[in-house]
Amino acid sequence: MIKNVSIIGAGTMGNGIAHVFAQNGFAVTLIDVNAIQLEKAITIIDKNLDRQVGKEIISEDQKKAALANITTTTDMASGVQNAQLAIEAATENTELKLKIFKQIDEAAPAGCILATNTSSISITKIAAVTKRPESVIGMHFMNPVPVMKLVEIINGYATKKEVTHTIIELSKQLGKVPCVVNDYPGFIANRILMPMINEAIYSLYEGVAGVTEIDTIMRLGMVHPMGPLQLADFIGLDVCLSILKVLQEGFGNPKYAPCPLLVNMVAAGKLGAKSGEGFYSYTLGSKELLVSERFK
Ligand code: NAD
Repeated sequence: MIKNVSIIGAGTMGNGIAHVFAQNGFAVTLIDVNAIQLEKAITIIDKNLDRQVGKEIISEDQKKAALANITTTTDMASGVQNAQLAIEAATENTELKLKIFKQIDEAAPAGCILATNTSSISITKIAAVTKRPESVIGMHFMNPVPVMKLVEIINGYATKKEVTHTIIELSKQLGKVPCVVNDYPGFIANRILMPMINEAIYSLYEGVAGVTEIDTIMRLGMVHPMGPLQLADFIGLDVCLSILKVLQEGFGNPKYAPCPLLVNMVAAGKLGAKSGEGFYSYTLGSKELLVSERFK
């Protein structure tokens, strides 16, 4: 039975994954190259647990117990040495992930399952740099992790059935709904989502409609909780661009070519909510959704 979970990368997704495992009684080791990022992650988890206490989802004692379940380290080798499951949630960059998987494979115990939270990078390619490709799997949580129910589980070419079964059962234990798919570019979630986001950006770029109109049509017409441009800002425009490139390269089909407007916005550092501006502008503390000056 899995009890000890190590999470590599303490950014947006890593802190959410740590939160959910810790809340469900697992011993979590959160690892990041950046010590400040680890401190930030604990502060965010604390705040998000407070929110759950405020909504009476958990008690104050459960919050304390969850925080006590998390330890942090900047040292990969010691951080994974007792892991039964290691989940990599570092920056979406193929070379970096290959390097990290080689490191985890060296340091983690023989029976440890190695999972990645990648949005789009091939599980099979990542597995191939390890000596245990049959124990490598995609465990794709959605953002924000404590709120979103879905876990997209991705079988690599060599992933063995027992490993998939363990990850399915574990996801259920976390209160999530697992869905198993195979390893092809973008898996299912992003293969379908990213072309829609790209098409929304093309519609804006070609002057078919404005930001508000595009998002309102998709929200009210298709009952999407947020429009595609707002969602792109939330995910991060750099992340959207890199996933589209994976789809374009992986399928060799020009229909996935990223819109030039998206390419330009990323080059200009307009990455969406995290940079303060994308299709909308995000002023600190403001809850109102304001269209960026550039698109008025
Ligand atoms: P992020 O930029 O918020 O965090 C990445 C973290 O990885 C940073 O804290 C960084 O310091 C750390 N890191 C970099 N190199 C490292 C190394 N060698 N060892 C340990 N830590 C290292 O990124 P994120 O948005 O949390 O995304 C993480 C992963 O999750 C990516 O693969 C991304 O595609 C995927 N994902 C993201 C979302 C989303 O909405 N943001 C949703 C689903 C999946």
